[in-house]
Amino acid sequence: MIARRLLAPPPGWRRDADVVVVGSGVAGVTTVLAIRRALPAARIVLATKSVLDDGSTRWAQGGIAAALGPGDSPADHLKDTLIAGAGICDVRAVQALVTDGPGAVRRLIDLGAEFDREPAGRLALTREGGHLRRRIAHAGGDATGAEISRALLAALDEAGQAAELEVIEHALAIDLLQAGDGRAVGITLHVLGEGQSDGVGAVHARAVVLATGGFGQVFSATTNPPVSTGDGLALAMRAGAEAADLEFVQFHPTVLWLGPDAHGRQPLVSEAVRGEGGVLVDASGHRFMTGQHPLADLAPRDIVAKAIMREMMMADTDHMYLDGRGLGADVWQHRFPTILASCREHDIDPVTELIPVVPAAHYASGGIRTDLRGRTSVPGLYACGECACTGVHGANRLASNSLLEGLVFAERIGAALAAGLPPAAAPAESAQEAVPGLLEPAIVRPLQRLMSANAGVLRSGAGLTEAAAGLADLRSLECDKPDAEAWQATNLHLVAAALVEAALAREETRGSHWREDFPDISEPWRGHLIFALRASGLSSVFQPVLND
Ligand SMILES: Cc1cc2nc3c(=O)[nH]c(=O)nc-3n(C[C@H](O)[C@H](O)[C@H](O)COP(=O)(O)OP(=O)(O)OC[C@H]3O[C@@H](n4cnc5c(N)ncnc54)[C@H](O)[C@@H]3O)c2cc1C
Repeated sequence: MIARRLLAPPPGWRRDADVVVVGSGVAGVTTVLAIRRALPAARIVLATKSVLDDGSTRWAQGGIAAALGPGDSPADHLKDTLIAGAGICDVRAVQALVTDGPGAVRRLIDLGAEFDREPAGRLALTREGGHLRRRIAHAGGDATGAEISRALLAALDEAGQAAELEVIEHALAIDLLQAGDGRAVGITLHVLGEGQSDGVGAVHARAVVLATGGFGQVFSATTNPPVSTGDGLALAMRAGAEAADLEFVQFHPTVLWLGPDAHGRQPLVSEAVRGEGGVLVDASGHRFMTGQHPLADLAPRDIVAKAIMREMMMADTDHMYLDGRGLGADVWQHRFPTILASCREHDIDPVTELIPVVPAAHYASGGIRTDLRGRTSVPGLYACGECACTGVHGANRLASNSLLEGLVFAERIGAALAAGLPPAAAPAESAQEAVPGLLEPAIVRPLQRLMSANAGVLRSGAGLTEAAAGLADLRSLECDKPDAEAWQATNLHLVAAALVEAALAREETRGSHWREDFPDISEPWRGHLIFALRASGLSSVFQPVLND
């Protein structure tokens, strides 16, 4: 059985703050800046697992979507987002995203983020899969995330001069501290560095914001960096928070294929390459997306990923190809310098050769369930960015909506906290010496293989049942050394178990969830599977969509 609560070892040091923010990607840093703007005197601790810019944000290539171009509107952006979400987006959350979006991107520009511009000075906007208009702002060609991260961290650095803001790097958030009534009142951290905060300690705070990113590391092949182990989601669930839409994992259709044994983070070949004219072909050069969808190679990601998997199965091969030769050397060098470099690093020249590609885990549409102000079901606990489920993405994220979601909902949390910080309270439980239920780090590779084989792009009842049984076996490999690796392995296991249970329960094919044994979309399943970890283990309820 999955442990409902893993109590972290006793805190050896303590900080007091008004708000503790966990994670330093677009969502975490934007939250800190928004709180500082609205509440300059608030004491904030920002804790992050690795160095500040280590997370998915800096790897984002394609760009950030917002209705900024001539002829575009939030209503058009809303329409495209709802179509990608396959009937289960929360319309109010999407409205918040598309309405607040243009202002949030402008504030990012005011902060110093330099987006690519046309010769006349207007923002250069491109298209990606599922967008009917050119509305993706990008930076450095295909280095949008790196530029956003640079600008946000420069602003953080400036804000960090203030005594009220403390940044702790190499600090793994372990578990939530809760008051007697269940409210979140802080977090325990495992700090792996030199200095007075070394070892396990606690930040006591009036509000806790989780911005810990996704959980791509649950799978063998992913575009996500090693820090994406679902820690925030797992610790929120252990504290009783609800999670939703966990079965909807987006697999990016075009990740550079590095051979049959590749695992861990793998280089992405952005959809924008197809936006600029690249096409998918099989080994004989046949374009297989033509006729499969009105948008052909620019169809939503799940459609493209599934089409590639089907072609791979029919041809009995483990990859397909992206033909970007028509773009020419100039476009490759100036528009896609990062992708060009990573292809060449692997001895592929996309200017003259086909690029071998395969789908890989890319984005978690589900996560910790929040309302429009980032509030979770645990009072005092907020979540934003990829670890959260605001309802924006439904069954499938529209390309380039995630950086925007991180910005918009982080700002909303800033506004919610400015409107009133929760009252301070002391944690109810004194932490225990023993940490029951931690798992051996050695489970991670078998877990990833199990998940990729049975809970990836192609799913079936039989495969998912096999995954559930395999996870139950791995559950017996407990460990008594509460180090960072054990916590991450335990978190990956909890996330994988909930994901498999959700994917097994949802007997239909919708968005990024593809069941071979239930190949059609099914109206009774138009809703959300909401999970919570109870004393008896994982429990779920189905909540139909009510918003139309
Ligand atoms: C290769 C790639 C390309 C992408 N391209 C695009 C794109 O073009 N457009 C788009 O909109 N989206 C894109 N995405 C998705 C987007 O980048 C992410 O969804 C977004 O950056 C997530 O931001 P975040 O702040 O929520 O999380 P992250 O940027 O992943 O940050 C998470 C932070 O939490 C920290 N953390 C995690 N666990 C803990 C813990 N236990 N304790 C303390 N800290 C912790 C991490 O160290 C990190 O600082 C891409 C993603 C990838 C991987």
